[in-house]
Amino acid sequence: MYKYAFNRILVRNPGYTTPMWNFNNTYQTLPKLFYTPQNPTAVPRPQAVILNKPLAESLRLAESDLQAEVLGGNQLPVGAQPLAQAYAGHQFGHFTMLGDGRAILLGEHFSPSEKPFISDKTDKFTRGFSVPTGEKYEKYDIQLKGAGPTVYSRNGDGRAALAPMLREYIISEAMHALEIPTTRSLAVVSTGEQIIREKPLQGAVLTRVAASHIRVGTFEFAAAFGEPSDVRSLADYTINRHFPAIIDTENKYILLLREVVQRQAALIAKWQSAGFIHGVMNTDNMSICGETIDYGPCAFMDVYSPDTVFSSIDKNGRYAYGNQPKIALWNLARFAESLLSILHKESHKATEIAQAEIEKFDRLFRNERLKNMRGKLGIFSDNPEEEDEFLIDELLQLMQDTAADYTNTFRALTLDLRHTEFLQWNEKWQNRLHRQGKTSGQVQALMKSRNPAVIPRNHRVEAALQAAENGDFAVLQKLLQILAAPYEYNQEQEQYAQPPDPGVCYKTYCGT
Ligand code: AMP
Ligand code: MG
Repeated sequence: MYKYAFNRILVRNPGYTTPMWNFNNTYQTLPKLFYTPQNPTAVPRPQAVILNKPLAESLRLAESDLQAEVLGGNQLPVGAQPLAQAYAGHQFGHFTMLGDGRAILLGEHFSPSEKPFISDKTDKFTRGFSVPTGEKYEKYDIQLKGAGPTVYSRNGDGRAALAPMLREYIISEAMHALEIPTTRSLAVVSTGEQIIREKPLQGAVLTRVAASHIRVGTFEFAAAFGEPSDVRSLADYTINRHFPAIIDTENKYILLLREVVQRQAALIAKWQSAGFIHGVMNTDNMSICGETIDYGPCAFMDVYSPDTVFSSIDKNGRYAYGNQPKIALWNLARFAESLLSILHKESHKATEIAQAEIEKFDRLFRNERLKNMRGKLGIFSDNPEEEDEFLIDELLQLMQDTAADYTNTFRALTLDLRHTEFLQWNEKWQNRLHRQGKTSGQVQALMKSRNPAVIPRNHRVEAALQAAENGDFAVLQKLLQILAAPYEYNQEQEQYAQPPDPGVCYKTYCGT
């Protein structure tokens, strides 16, 4: 080890123009059990099939940063120190050791930003990079998914197939446009390599951009395989990275738990409101910072039914639409357990504290849900009424009884501000709107901002993926363009708003 840290004084690196990878690797300040250094394994013919130019721009990356050789893992960008993260998790209720079996973290990219910034306080976790005074940065994990085997691969090949990576790209970008916190997708490159699944498939690598990849499962890993000091290190790191406001508080680990519960309640309420079904809400697929992560067999519900399950592996409907809040709570209980050793030195007190925090979820979720659903019905939040919950639930029940399309029912209400099918309900709703004293223009504007005219319908996603597998990316590009502006209410969206033919039942596959 050198006696001093390089690159603490920043000058522009000769040969680089301003937009460029700006890597730091703070994850490596954690105890070694949390990761294993691992380079991507090279692929034969990396070729970009899709690049997210707006995202690249917002990260201040130039096209020269997005070469297929880099995004395919054949060349490392300057400053990258690749690693695979260790984590565990409860999969369908069963605890197991996992880890990045096919994903490799290149590092954290520091991107100039007007929004959050890395303060002096958090700076102790950045190595070899000091934030210039007065400048504001956001940092993002840059991860290559499908970049080859790691020590955590178990029997897997470390690779990913083209269609599931494009699926993650489509859905995560659609979620972003729907204003639901999510990891983003910067690119998909095909590898020129066949991978063997049930049949041979084209290999691909997805470049994932995330606020971080710290999962509930990362904490479970620390608690199960590390010492309490490891849990504390991870908690401190997480607080520094995501919750700087609580760094100096006395009960910071309790507050960490509280913040995570709050963010998950808000996230799941947004999923429910959009009709999004994650499909595999295992604890390793739940991000601590409250982003939606790990898009596998996820899908949006067409007909409203709380039992809706798309995932082929979810035989018992554990992760059905209507179960998602309960599952989030269950996962958060696992998170709370992993913190017990640092919540209080007396274990029964620690349990009491954790229990009390976890019990706040239901109320938080209910409030978040009400907030979202009121907006969908054009009810302004400055004028809430107790009975709004009945109004919402009654509509959902009617939708369920009549097998109505979830998104399109709200879309129709938005366009018409009345509903001819649900006459009695409509009368109550009209009265409710009347009582808040807003103009119909104001109500409609609110509803248009809360009710997407389009969502990534499964049949559309499948059609785009099939065309892409056959080398035609135009269908995908068009779909992405439509999904990037879900609240526009324009003519072009019409055909994308159509639900699938009745009776068509879609199954989604992990496709790993
Ligand atoms: P997921 O279902 O994507 O959340 O993945 C669950 C676990 O399986 C994670 O630890 C992944 O890294 C691992 N995994 C999934 N696919 C592969 C693969 N092809 N090779 C190695 N590990 C994999
Ligand atoms: Mg996962």
